[in-house]
Amino acid sequence: MDLAPALAQARPKFDAAWDTVLSHGQFVGGPEVDAFESAFAQFCGAERCVGVGNGTDAIELVLAGLGIGPGSEVIVPANTFIATAAAVHRVGAVPRFVDVDKETLLLSAEAARDAIGPRTAAIIAVHLFGQPCELDELSAVADAHSLVLIEDAAQAHDATYKGTRIGGHSAAATFSFYPGKNLGAFGDGGAVVTNDAALADRIASLSAHGRSPEDRYMHMNVGRNSRLDTLNSAMLSVRLGGLPHETARRREVRGWYEEMMPDGADLVSQRVDCESAYHLLVAQVQNRDDVRAELDLRGVGTGVHYPIPCHLQPAFEHLAPGQLPVVEAAADRIVSLPMGSHLDRSDVEYVCEQLGQVLISL
Ligand SMILES: *Cc1c(COP(=O)(O)O)cnc(C)c1O
Repeated sequence: MDLAPALAQARPKFDAAWDTVLSHGQFVGGPEVDAFESAFAQFCGAERCVGVGNGTDAIELVLAGLGIGPGSEVIVPANTFIATAAAVHRVGAVPRFVDVDKETLLLSAEAARDAIGPRTAAIIAVHLFGQPCELDELSAVADAHSLVLIEDAAQAHDATYKGTRIGGHSAAATFSFYPGKNLGAFGDGGAVVTNDAALADRIASLSAHGRSPEDRYMHMNVGRNSRLDTLNSAMLSVRLGGLPHETARRREVRGWYEEMMPDGADLVSQRVDCESAYHLLVAQVQNRDDVRAELDLRGVGTGVHYPIPCHLQPAFEHLAPGQLPVVEAAADRIVSLPMGSHLDRSDVEYVCEQLGQVLISL
C-alpha cells in the first residue's frame, strides 16, 4: 500500500478544502459534514448517511440504534477484523461466530441460517476484502427468521452487488474511513448508510451525546461522542470524487494478478454477481509464513487478513470456540499481496515472478 501518489495528485483540492475550513473555523459539524454525508449517501444509493468517529463505532451505533443489546446474539463471520465482533460485545450482545465459504472466505447464507438460535437478533454480513456477500440469500434468511441484516462494509466502498453499489441492501451498512481503507480520511472516520430515516436520526443523536435534534440541551438517551469531524469530511468529499477511478484501477490490478498468478498460489474466488472493490488481494499458499519472509527479502510487502480467526482470539476465548474448519485452515494459508491504485502492470509482474520463484524454492 502506498497512499502518497493518490494524495499528491489531488493535493491542490485538499489544500483548497483545508483553507475553507480554516477560514470559517468550525471543526465539528458544519457545511462540510452535511455535504459529505449527502454525497456519500447518494454515492451508495441510500437515503441517509450519518458520519461517525470510526468504522467500529459505526457498527456499535447501528446495533444500539436497533435496540440490540444484552440478551441478544449476533451472527458474525469468524474471518473478519476483530472490530466487527468487538462492536457486538460493546453493546452487551454476544457475537456468535460462524464459519465462512470455502471459495470466497465470506459469510454464507447457509452458515448464517444454521447458526440461528432463540436469542439471535441480527446477522452482520462482512464484505471482506471488498467483495460483497450473497446479500439476497442473507436477506431471505434474515426475513424468514425476523432478524436484522447489517452490512460491515468497512472494506467495500464502491463495491457493487448485482449492479448496485453497496450501502442500500440491508437495514444499515457501516463504513470505515481509516486511512488505509479504499476511501480513507486523514485520521479516523466512519459512517452509517441506511434507507431507514428513523434509524439514521437515532444514530445521529446517539453519536452526539444523545441530543434531541430540536434542543441541544435536551438529552433523550444516554449517548456518546463519535462524530466525523469537519476537516475530514472536507477531505473525504475530495477523495470520494476520485474513488471510482481508483476502484477501476484496483479491478485492473486484480485482472493482472489473475493473468500472472503462478502455480501454487490460489486467488480467493470472485463471485459472478458482484464486483469487488478489491480492498485486499488475497491468495492462498502453502508454507505461508516462509513465503512471506522470502517475499519480504525481495522487496514485496505482504499482510495476513487475518492470521487468528475471531473465535480463537484470547478476547473471545470464553465463548465456546467450536470447530470452524474452513476459517481455521484458511488462516494458515492466506496472504494479502500488494494491492492499490498506485500499482501498474510491471509491479504485478514483479510480485508474481517473485512469488513463483519463492513457491518453487520452498
Ligand atoms: C477497518 C475495519 C473495521 C473497523 O473500522 P475502524 O474505522 O478502524 O474502526 C471494521 N470491520 C472491518 C471489516 C474492517 O476492515
